[in-house]
Amino acid sequence: MERIYIGMGSNLAAPEQQLRCAIDALAKLPETTLGGVSAFYQSDSLLPGQPRYTNAVAALDSTLAPLELLDALQAIENEQGRERLERWGPRTLDLDILLFGDRLIDEPRLKVPHYQIHLRAFVLYPLAELAPASLQLADGRLLSDLLTTCPFVGLERLTTA
Ligand code: ATP
Ligand code: MG
Ligand code: MG
Repeated sequence: MERIYIGMGSNLAAPEQQLRCAIDALAKLPETTLGGVSAFYQSDSLLPGQPRYTNAVAALDSTLAPLELLDALQAIENEQGRERLERWGPRTLDLDILLFGDRLIDEPRLKVPHYQIHLRAFVLYPLAELAPASLQLADGRLLSDLLTTCPFVGLERLTTA
C-alpha cells in the first residue's frame, strides 16, 4: 500500500458536483481505498478570462502501479466529459497525481511529485489538511517549507464541502 495524493480541479459544468462525482469514482478504484478528502476551495484560474476553479485534494491508499493509476484517473476525467483543447483550458475535471508514496517518477507520461506543486496554493493548502506539515516529499522538500513560500492568495476555503 502506498499513500497517494490527488489534486482535483474543475471550472465547468457545476464544479462542486464534478468533484463529488470524482470522489465517488476514486473510492471505487480497484486495489484502492479512499483515505480522506480535504475541504473544497475556490481559486483564481491560472490563465485570465476563465471561471474560478473549485479544488480539493484526495488521499488514496493503493497498490496500483503509478501508470495504472494515471490511466484510471484519465478514464474518470474522460467519463466526466474532459476535453483537451488548449493547455490549461477550462475543464470539467482535472485529476493530477501530486505525490505517490516516496517515489520520484520521471517518465514521459508521468512526473511525480507534480512539477508545479510548490507554486500552487490551491494544491498545497488542501494537501496540508490531509498530510502533516512535517511531510517530506520524495525529493527532500518539506511541505511546511512549500507552504511558507506559497502564500494563501487568490484562494477561498469553502465551509461546506
Ligand atoms: P498541469 O499538469 O500543469 O496541472 P493539466 O493538469 O491541465 O496541467 P493535463 O492536460 O491534465 O494537464 O495533462 C497533460 C498530461 O500530463 C497528461 O496526459 C499526463 O500524461 C501528464 N502528466 C505528467 N505528470 C502528471 C501527474 N503527476 N499527474 C497527472 N498527469 C501528469
Ligand atoms: Mg492540472
Ligand atoms: Mg492534469
